[in-house]
Amino acid sequence: MPKSTTVHPEKNSASDYIGRFAPSPTGPLHFGSLLAALASFLDARANQGSWLVRIEDLDPPREPAACAGLILQQLTDLGLHWDGGVLYQSTRLEAYELILKQLQAEELCFPCDCTRAQIKAMGNVYDGSCRRRISAPTKDFAVRLKVDAADVSFEDLIQGHYVQNLTEDVGDFVIRRKDKLFAYQLAVVADDEMQNITHVIRGYDLIDSTARQIFLQQTLNYSKLEYAHIPIIVDKMGQKLSKQAFAPSIDTDHAASLIYQSLNLLGQSPPTALEKENTQQQLQWAIKNWDLQAVPKLGSLFSSK
Ligand code: GLU
Repeated sequence: MPKSTTVHPEKNSASDYIGRFAPSPTGPLHFGSLLAALASFLDARANQGSWLVRIEDLDPPREPAACAGLILQQLTDLGLHWDGGVLYQSTRLEAYELILKQLQAEELCFPCDCTRAQIKAMGNVYDGSCRRRISAPTKDFAVRLKVDAADVSFEDLIQGHYVQNLTEDVGDFVIRRKDKLFAYQLAVVADDEMQNITHVIRGYDLIDSTARQIFLQQTLNYSKLEYAHIPIIVDKMGQKLSKQAFAPSIDTDHAASLIYQSLNLLGQSPPTALEKENTQQQLQWAIKNWDLQAVPKLGSLFSSK
């Protein structure tokens, strides 16, 4: 699939809604990532919005070469067609660098060479020790954003009111890693803003990152977004399906059955007759009947998939 940086949606959309699905190409889609793709697609289409795909390829050592193409092919096979071109984060490094420079110039971030062991000893909540250092680190260092003491809160469209105190729960967080790769938190905020995203529908495992993203958006004077976090899929051991845990790839030879099961898990109560239909008919039904409020207000759901 050709790389393209045409990332703005076509002007065929009757609303301001812009949603997105933003997989990291560390493995093919598994059933959990399919659910996030489907929910964000349906919410966008049901609101006459645009739906974009962004490949979050920020960590080359963890990304097998063929993965991005495979994910895009899987989405196509499922009938989840996106608007415009695909944005690859690997093409956005200069933009991230500029944001970093701006934060540095405003002294809103600082270098930190604390080791993993030191951070563990802090209880994994960064205690701000490198904020106070006088001399710059001589070895490799990460860059951390200074957080403040105020609570960050938002109304999740599925899960309801969510509040986090970044100082108490996270501490100053990494925006550029020690290995010089940009951190997910910085890249995702930069791209959601650049692509004018209005709605983020994604897995519950990321709800914990949302306060950091909102804080960074506020720091940079970016637009506010709506968030909805859908339950993640866990196996019978209660383990999240994840690429790291070698969750099996979905098999799009059974695309219609996958969509039907996903609609059930998303609480959409598809009629049994829909099971035998093709993906196009299933998606048409699902867009027409989409009810975000019917999605279970849970962090995780079991599926034998
Ligand atoms: N790239 C992230 C992932 O694959 C998702 C990022 C997001 O939706 O904000 O888990």
